[in-house]
Amino acid sequence: MPHEVETIPLMAPGPGTSRALTVHRFGTRGVGRKLYFQAALHADELPGTLVLNHLIGWLAAADARGEVLADITVLPYANPVGLANRIHGYHLGRYDLDGDGNFNRWYPRLADKVAEKVGNRLGDDLEENRATIRAAAREAVADWDAEGEANVLRKALMALSIDADMIFDLHCHGAAVQYAYFPQAHWQAYGDLTAELGCRVVLFFPTDEGSTFDAVATVLMHDLAARFPDRPVPPPPFTTTLELRGQQDCSDAMAEPDARAILRFLQRHGFVAGDPGSPPEPLCSPTPLEGSDTMVAPCAGVISYRVALGERVKAGEVVADIVDPAVVDFAAARTPVASRTEGIVYGRNLSLLVRPGQSFAVVAGDHALPPPDLPVIDH
Ligand SMILES: [Zn+2]
Repeated sequence: MPHEVETIPLMAPGPGTSRALTVHRFGTRGVGRKLYFQAALHADELPGTLVLNHLIGWLAAADARGEVLADITVLPYANPVGLANRIHGYHLGRYDLDGDGNFNRWYPRLADKVAEKVGNRLGDDLEENRATIRAAAREAVADWDAEGEANVLRKALMALSIDADMIFDLHCHGAAVQYAYFPQAHWQAYGDLTAELGCRVVLFFPTDEGSTFDAVATVLMHDLAARFPDRPVPPPPFTTTLELRGQQDCSDAMAEPDARAILRFLQRHGFVAGDPGSPPEPLCSPTPLEGSDTMVAPCAGVISYRVALGERVKAGEVVADIVDPAVVDFAAARTPVASRTEGIVYGRNLSLLVRPGQSFAVVAGDHALPPPDLPVIDH
């Protein structure tokens, strides 16, 4: 099938205003594995939009040659609501300004509704059960009486992805090295994606909890497996959140190699025709999300980092000082904050001004940590 472009209208927030998703589809619907890509769900995280812009050009050309061998959906921007979040010249985009929270949280848990619709129709055949569950999941999403602009958007994104085999959610950090949240169950089969992208950190995350976009489809399958223990329920789909460095790391020069990396991954796994060659050597080994230390400011001040992004620190090593610029004594003006783990400093906030309890940097360690002493303001 040739490349199709679909426009999906979202809620009109006021008279005279309209917003819409632009959805690119490649391959033949329902034939082969279903892959779903989206960028900038946090609308101020733009690197993925350029990556997917490169990718849709190549996929359109491949599709015209009959070389797209999967059912591929691509949203180069997933959040027109957030793209319009401008305040006094600054573009925000992480939170719904109308009060519906972080755009990548608060996705509903579908298991109750899906289980109700499935009833006693699950049998002993895994593939039949997969089709039954996916149809019920699509219905459950369609039935959701989503209120408010952010929830209408959440519903539209879920409708496009709930039955996908693979979900790629492209984000970035304030400032960061290349890294990814990756499902451990799929590491052996698909870990080459992180090597292709040159990830310096790979975080294994739990797929059976959470209200993020990427958790919707995985949590559903975990929940259904628990509800129907005597029936074969499909394993959770592959979902990864790719963190494409920092918000300022957005240019064609950076996006083109990342898009090439994704295309080679698609070729290697038979979703697009072509020979990608061997994957490069990985730059890191995966570490658990529970081992990631979130550094928290104990006081208000200006951050002065002692180590660079991507540097390895030891447990107890000071990563940054929080400076009160009005204190005369140099040492007294500085409150050092140390890492609780040995690992890579992989992400930092873009803003260098912090308030007490605010998280500002993350360090990827390889063993689980206890929760932090201070309550964390999680932005
Ligand atoms: Zn994000």
